[in-house]
Parts: sequence; structure tokens; C-alpha cells
Amino acid sequence: MSLAHILGFPRLGPDREFKKALEAYWKGSLSQQALCDVGKDLRMRAWSAQKAAGLDLVTVGDFAWYDHVLETSALLGVVPPRFEWQGPEVDLDTFFRMARGVAPTGKATHACEMTKWFDTNYHYIVPEFHKGQRFAISSPRLFEDVAEASAAGFPVKAVLLGPLTYLWLGKTKGEDFDRLSLLPDLLPVYQQILKRLADLGVAWVQIDEPALVLDLPKAWTDAYPKAYEGLSAAGPRLLLTTYFESLGANRELACKLPTAGLHIDLVRGADQLPAVLKALPSDKLLSVGVVDGRNIWRADLEAALKVLRAAQGHKGGLAVASSCSLLHVPVDLMREQRLDAEIRSWLAFATQKMAEVGLLKRALDEGDAAIAQALEESRRVAQDRKSSKRIHDAAVKARVAAVQPADAARKQAFAKRRPLQRAHLNLPMFPTTTIGSFPQTNEIRTARRDFKAGRISAAEYEERMRAEIALAVRKQEEIGLDVLVHGEAERNDMVEYFGEQLQGFAFTDYGWVQSYGSRAVKPPIIFGDVSRPKPMTVEWAKYAQSLTKRPMKGMLTGPVTILQWSFVRNDQARADTALQIAFAIRDEVCDLERAGIRVIQIDEPAVREGLPLRREDHKAYLAWAVRAFRVSSAGVGDETQIHTHMCYAEFNDIIEAVAEMDADVITIETSRSDMELLDAFVNFHYPNEIGPGVYDIHSPRVPSTEEMVRLMRKAEKVLPPEHLWVNPDCGLKTRGWPETESALRHMVEAAESLRKTR
Ligand code: GLN
Ligand code: ZN
Repeated sequence: MSLAHILGFPRLGPDREFKKALEAYWKGSLSQQALCDVGKDLRMRAWSAQKAAGLDLVTVGDFAWYDHVLETSALLGVVPPRFEWQGPEVDLDTFFRMARGVAPTGKATHACEMTKWFDTNYHYIVPEFHKGQRFAISSPRLFEDVAEASAAGFPVKAVLLGPLTYLWLGKTKGEDFDRLSLLPDLLPVYQQILKRLADLGVAWVQIDEPALVLDLPKAWTDAYPKAYEGLSAAGPRLLLTTYFESLGANRELACKLPTAGLHIDLVRGADQLPAVLKALPSDKLLSVGVVDGRNIWRADLEAALKVLRAAQGHKGGLAVASSCSLLHVPVDLMREQRLDAEIRSWLAFATQKMAEVGLLKRALDEGDAAIAQALEESRRVAQDRKSSKRIHDAAVKARVAAVQPADAARKQAFAKRRPLQRAHLNLPMFPTTTIGSFPQTNEIRTARRDFKAGRISAAEYEERMRAEIALAVRKQEEIGLDVLVHGEAERNDMVEYFGEQLQGFAFTDYGWVQSYGSRAVKPPIIFGDVSRPKPMTVEWAKYAQSLTKRPMKGMLTGPVTILQWSFVRNDQARADTALQIAFAIRDEVCDLERAGIRVIQIDEPAVREGLPLRREDHKAYLAWAVRAFRVSSAGVGDETQIHTHMCYAEFNDIIEAVAEMDADVITIETSRSDMELLDAFVNFHYPNEIGPGVYDIHSPRVPSTEEMVRLMRKAEKVLPPEHLWVNPDCGLKTRGWPETESALRHMVEAAESLRKTR
């Protein structure tokens, strides 16, 4: 008999009950007791659903207020000193203050850092370790959840974030030291936790060690065997889980660790099964993740069964599983009433994915006939997706197949383009511009809501958006900016706005996925070949340009970012989908140029987050990502100036690729790091023009002219001054007009002062 389980369930709830309850609690309109009741209800529903799907074990401990890494910190008593926590238990408000700086009770303090969980769009709260860090069990929540599930009669598998991955994800603060040196103090606490779980009657503990799929330093891989020797003696059977990639160089290590079982991701690491079967001791349970926890496509049951049958001879037994936690997919497809029926039939959200795991287990144990109907349906869907006209557009495929090197190259090199653009645009030294969006005011949001609800006509909506654009243009002229933008009033979201106008995209009503804390995103679904039936932004750009003599910057989202922030089809390489999007954007770029727009910005804030987890895969990714951007931008004449924008920290790993993108101007985020982020560009001798952000748009604070001059002076010392632009860190959509106007006035003054003193 095989086992069936999932690695974790989404916390949000089918109606984002989690979000609503959390935010109400933070606001003070929901009591702590009521909040806990919502949590309890969500857990109960998740467990019942797992049982109903035919899973043998229900996963307990995956529910987390805010974030599971933060829950682990609470469990282990890792609370930074600034929160003045006295112990013994981390109360809920201390917990929330760590996450967000404030909570209904307790002193406001700056929150802990947040960063992306591996290569997902989920963000975790970074553990902070101080010299002399101590660990002690400091939260009862895991044990309470286990007791709750057992009392309700569910067969429990508890989940714990493994000690090495936990340390790996953290950071040292204050005096610097090697965080791996904390392991000897941490392990006894893990042993106590496991012991308590055993006392509660838990037979299996899923211990997550996704760090094992990374390129780990030797000292870290060396630490695994000893650590797990201690843990495996503590009581419950350990199922070591790895996901998001194949095990690669750590395969032998993971297989040989003294645990009762090993989980591997066969969606991301599809080809690792034979090698794992060879390396895995015959008495160990093998858990095979064949149902994709990162994407929303219905599983091809037949293909999954083939994989499972290849592993079925394994003596230690087999578990059928999701590839990773289902945290990364929406809760329930049945909520989608408006989605096109054919597209809907191709999808599976968390609830449907659990059912798939259950079905696969039945087929393994009882034979295909036991799930004949489901197999038939799955076969039909697979066939449908192979041939559907909705998906396959011969013209798009032909265009992508015929891509030529010339499609991905501007006519002349940057050095030749530059004087042409300077003459064409007639810009001063240190030209000023903004990143695209201006404040999304209540009026704008209300107009959009009214339009979507049918309360105002399309004509009325357009009229209001035009008024907003006119307002933004007038203000920018008054402020004295050099290159203007239309302000993006008409855009709800920088990906959705384009997706809605492109072929090959679908949208859900309830397809929410947790991004961080109470925040969720609703990624579009790229289901088919992508093309652009008609211009998307040209009318707005033309209108904006008609209002001013100054250059109006056209504003688009780039192919890599559109891909990265969507659920992407799994029937062709991501590189191919990126290229299809790139051609669609290229058409828009060319149409903008034809309409007289001389500066066009193609935003690519997501290039870095698409980087594969392992270094060996970086090159191939960056090659296709750069090509996609270049194809999207290279259709224009040399006098048309292409901008791109990327707002994030780390450029070191990608600077070469960023240079290869060959945008005439790049604007980046630098103000919060006091221009330190420029280092990558300086060291690389970045050849094109660059606008290092001079003020942080995340804060309502209005920086002074002097501050911005000081930052630009730093930039001017290390980069050619004639290559420098003056702009904020990012778009201004979350700001209000008053602070935006003051800050931009100071920014223009700063540029003037820089010009004067040359
Ligand atoms: N043009 C976009 C804006 O200004 C860029 C947003 C982003 O970088 N995330 O809002
Ligand atoms: Zn940005």
C-alpha cells in the first residue's frame, strides 16, 4: 500500500478569510479570540478536505499566522532584542511586531526583514541571530495544532522547518559570526520538539530541508549527517522533504541521511528519479512529488502514473505527493464561476490537486480501473490542450520559430545611438524623469470600480482617465521635469493591464496566492500562444503627448516580468513563452514609435527573481531573458530612446546580463542603500545611461534638495556624469499628490544645482 499526502495547504481560505481576519485584528476590530477561531476553522477545513481527498495523512503545522519561518522562530524562541521579549512564550502581538513593526499591543519597533522564499513569490520573515543566541521551545502552537487534529480524529503528519534550512535562511545581526556555529545549540531544542510530538502520538514528521537543492557550502553539507543522526533518534519517523529543484550534487547526501523517508520534487527535478532510486537505501520510504504545487495545471494522471510505477518496486514503500506545499496555488477552482469552461477544465487548484494525489494513490494500490473515469477525463484534457485552437496559433509559433539575431539587436551600437538621441530629444545634462505611475487616487480607483461594475460607461471612464492624464502632465510641466510620463491612471496592475489585452491570457476571480502576511496576489494565467490583437497603450500615449511639447515616455511592462508574475503554461519552455510575449511587446513599441513617441520604457523589475536556484542554470536563463527583452525593444530606430526600470537590491549576479539588455537608459533603486547598489554598475563599467533613484518612494517623507544632490554627487564620482539621469527609485502610485509634488520639485532643483556647478 502506498501513502498519499501533500506537503502543505494554502492558509488564505477560499474567500481570503485569513486576510480579512488578520487585518481586522490588526485594526482592532476583531478580538484575539475571534482571530484564533478563524485560524482553527481554516485548519479544520484544510484537514477535512485532505481526508475527503483520500489522503492517508493530514499535514499539521503548515498553518502559520503571517509566515511559517516566523512561526519557526517563535517555536525556537528566536526574537531579536529590540522587541524586549521576556519569554517564556512568544505572544501573538510580539509575533506580529516582528512581522510588521506594530501590533495592537506592545511598543512599535522596526520589523524584521522580509525576503523571497527560494524562487517563489512568497516572502518569509528573515530570522535574526545574535551573538550568544539561545534557543528554547517558546510557542505552543505546533503542539496545540497537533492535539487539535488528533482530537478531531485525523491521522497526523506534523511539519517542521529543518534546522539547517532554518539557519541557512537567517542572518546574523550585530557582531558578525558564522550562523552555522549555532547548530549545536539548536539541535537539542529540535530533539525536544520531536520528543513532544512523539508524546502526542505523531508517527511521521515532515522535516523540510529545501536548502538541500541549493549550491550549499561544504561546511553546511558536512553538518547534515551528524545533525540528522541526533534528530532521527528523537522519536517520530522523519520524512526529509526537498523541493523546488532536483537534489543535484546533494543527492547522495540526502539519500543517505538517517531519516525514515525522503521526498523529492519530480516536477521541477523530473529526471532525478532513477538516480535517487539507486542511491536510496531500500528500507526508506520514497515520497514522490508528481502533482505540481507551483502551478495551476491539471495533472496528466497517466504520465504521473508512469513515473510512479517506475518507482513502485522500491522496497521501502512509496508515498504519492504534491511536489511541494500547495501554498503557492489558489485554494479551490470550484469558486471560479466566470472563467471560460474549456480553460477551467484544464486547471487544478489546491483542492483539486489533493484529489489528484488521492486518485494516483488509488490507481497504484488498486489498479487503473479503480480510477478509470478520472483517467479518461485527464486523457481528454491532455489531448484537448495539445490541439485546442484556443492555445495554438500557427502564426505566433511561426514568428517565434523564425526569430533572427537581427530581431534582437538595435541597428547601431549604443555609442552611435547616443548622439542621435541627444540631438533628437534635446535634453540637458542630468535629465529628470519619473518611473511611470503617479498617485492612484481614490477618484481613480472609484472610477475603475464603477466602470467594472457597469455603473459608468466606457466613454465616461475614458473621459475620467483623460482628465487624470491631463492633470499629471500639467503638474509635471509645472514642476519642470524633462521627460514626462502619462501617469498610468488607467492601469490596475502592470501585468494584468497588458494580460487583459493580449491573446493567450485568462483571469480568475478568486485565484489568490499568499505573497506575504495578509497580502495576496492574483496572477494571470498564460494558457496559450501570446499575441497582440491591437495596440494597447498607443491612444493614451498619443493623447498624453498631445498635451506637451516635452518628450512623453511610453510605458510598457517587459516580457520577463509578465512571465514571472503569471502562472505560465507548462506545455512549452518558459523561454518560448517569453519570446512570444516579447514579439507582442515589440509590436506595441513599434506602434508607439510610429505614433511619435520618442522615449519608450519597458519595465523589467522581475528579471532577477527569475534566476534559477542553482548557479549552473543561471547562464541559460539569463540568455533567454536578455533575448526576450532585446526582441521586445529592438524594433525601433536608433534615435528612439529605450528605457528600462528595475527596482531591487542585488545586481551583482546579473550585471553582465543587464548590460547585454542594451537599454539606452536604465533606472534603478539606490536611495535606500545610499548609492551602494551602484557598485555593481561601477565595477562592471556599465556602458549605457543610468538613473540611480535619488529618493525612496516607499516612504511619504519628502527628501530635501541637498540630500538628493549629495546622492547624485556620489554617483557622479563613480560614473560618467553625462550618462546620469535624475529620478525617484520607483513608481509613485502608492503616494499622495502633495508629497509627490514637493519631492519632485526638490528633485528638479537638485538636477539644476548639479548642472550649475559643472
Ligand atoms: N512603471 C511602473 C510604475 O511606475 C513600474 C513599477 C515597478 O517597477 N514595479 O509603477
Ligand atoms: Zn520599480
